[in-house]
Amino acid sequence: MPDRMRGVKSDSPEQESADDALKRIVDGFQHFRREVFPEQQALFKKLANSQRPRAMFITCADSRIVPELITQSSPGDLFVTRNVGNVVPPYGQMNGGVSSAIEYAVMALDVQHIIVCGHSDCGAMKAVLDPAGLQRMPTVKAWLRHCEVARSLVEQNCSCTAGEALGVLTEENVVAQLDHLRTHPSVAARLASGQLFIHGWIYNIGTSEIRAYDAEKGEFRMIGDGPLPMATPRARYQAS
Ligand code: ZN
Repeated sequence: MPDRMRGVKSDSPEQESADDALKRIVDGFQHFRREVFPEQQALFKKLANSQRPRAMFITCADSRIVPELITQSSPGDLFVTRNVGNVVPPYGQMNGGVSSAIEYAVMALDVQHIIVCGHSDCGAMKAVLDPAGLQRMPTVKAWLRHCEVARSLVEQNCSCTAGEALGVLTEENVVAQLDHLRTHPSVAARLASGQLFIHGWIYNIGTSEIRAYDAEKGEFRMIGDGPLPMATPRARYQAS
């Protein structure tokens, strides 16, 4: 480890030293290579030269969200894109990593589902509600302008208490990012022909519940209570 990385002071008394943190990660890799990889060798051999993920999963970079764990998926199942606030920039405004991943997933990998997944206790959503803490983080502040539509919508329409605002904003942010997703030409074309389905989820870290957006009713409902709520608009064309 370079000297400059040693002795980095931690903010939290529970935080490991930089040395210990890296050791845990490398030890984990070695355990994977020795114990886990040999047990699943057939899967990794099959995946060595191709992928056919069943869905694209766009979620927050938050370390507590592990898409493969909460959906019990294996390597090769999910095409995952993560960023601060599970943001999807509208097409044409910022054609960077998220937009490229969406186009690749739809056009090259033919994914049939895109899930945008927000979560409870999201630091990005807290920052959108109270941006004072972002003074030293101009890049995060600029990125979160893609959530401004949700903040404005909550501020002008919601009579919720300060305690409820975070939950409502988290929901509205997922709805806003689904709207942005539909501005991407690859997505819009396949949605219109019924070849692609989009989903808006909120994962609760403390309870493991997921609530999904029902676009027809305009509300989030728990997954597991009746039919799966759908965020996909009605198709208007036959697939060619
Ligand atoms: Zn988050």
